[in-house]
Amino acid sequence: MNTMGRKHNFFAGPSTLPVPVLEQLKAEIVDTQGKGLSMIEASHRGGMYEAMHNETLELLRDLLAVPKDRRILFLGGGATLQFGMVPMNLRALGQSCDYTLTGAWSKKALADAKLSGPVRLAYDGTPGNFTALPAAASVKVPQDSAYLHLTSNETIGGIQWKEFPDCGSVPLVADMSSDILSRRIPAERFGLIYAGAQKNLGPAGLTVVIISGELLERSPKNLAAYLSYQTHAEENSLYNTPPVFAVSVAGLVLKWVKAQGGLPAVEKLNAEKAGLIYQAIDGSGGFYRSPVDKPARSTMNVVFRLPSEELEKAFVAESEKAGMLGLKGHRSVGGCRASLYNGLPLEGAKALAALMKDFAARNG
Ligand SMILES: *Cc1c(COP(=O)(O)O)cnc(C)c1O
Repeated sequence: MNTMGRKHNFFAGPSTLPVPVLEQLKAEIVDTQGKGLSMIEASHRGGMYEAMHNETLELLRDLLAVPKDRRILFLGGGATLQFGMVPMNLRALGQSCDYTLTGAWSKKALADAKLSGPVRLAYDGTPGNFTALPAAASVKVPQDSAYLHLTSNETIGGIQWKEFPDCGSVPLVADMSSDILSRRIPAERFGLIYAGAQKNLGPAGLTVVIISGELLERSPKNLAAYLSYQTHAEENSLYNTPPVFAVSVAGLVLKWVKAQGGLPAVEKLNAEKAGLIYQAIDGSGGFYRSPVDKPARSTMNVVFRLPSEELEKAFVAESEKAGMLGLKGHRSVGGCRASLYNGLPLEGAKALAALMKDFAARNG
């Protein structure tokens, strides 16, 4: 716990936000920038909101080095809505698209894609129980494919793509919900990136979509207005009321990230935090186990097991007493999971690593 009584928050999502952002929010919630009203009370058709909206879009473009020909959209519906919107917008009638099946989230994306047309599997991690990823260069996609979909970080299984497949002229589409803004990415290699905000970008309610001009052309004309990327691109994501609260907090988070030194600095810190926990696992003489193949280990979600379910329960109970929240693993995989998103300070990872060492020494 820190001096303000805040606990170390390891929840997988929604998740911890940077304290300076929460402090600024507190200061501005009643009266934003001396305008006499809160940002979240301003009309999305007015200049006050629009300036902040555009500034937030540009900050995101700048931090992620998104090429000029890409449009950035602010939508609602979570990453889950994108599971359906991506195939509806990008796949022609009867055309196939390709998916890499690497865990719980890509499984959901795949299931929704199947509802509206043919899908092929470019990789199936089911036999290995989703604990490893293929070498990027080994993923091959037929050139008639509408797109290749991957989940850059599987939040539940704790595996993360470090390099991305090269699929020639087939656009690469990525669900980056749980690692966007956590590291540098080759944004120019993706035709479409989508991410729910509630892990690294801000509060729940905002979904970011980054789409190339070429893919924007593909939206069929018979989609409901909200379901078409073209609608949102033409209206600068102001076709309907955007999630104004989430957008304004994301704006504060992006400024904070920029002040930290942008993605190179954030990436370094995230590697350090994850390194502390993986060291605690690997250096425990087998007391803790990571089920994940080493090269695929996620820097965002560290999944680990203890020698027994009883010890796992005891560990989680102790961690809660020590002011650490959210370390119980997802119900589908069991064990423990530490989510180490951008908002988690280094002290949080240090406290967890220390508890792990101490617990192992007493119970090993
Ligand atoms: C959290 C998460 C989702 C789901 O996001 P919602 O905003 O709840 O729809 C999808 N994909 C990944 C990788 C996630 O981590």
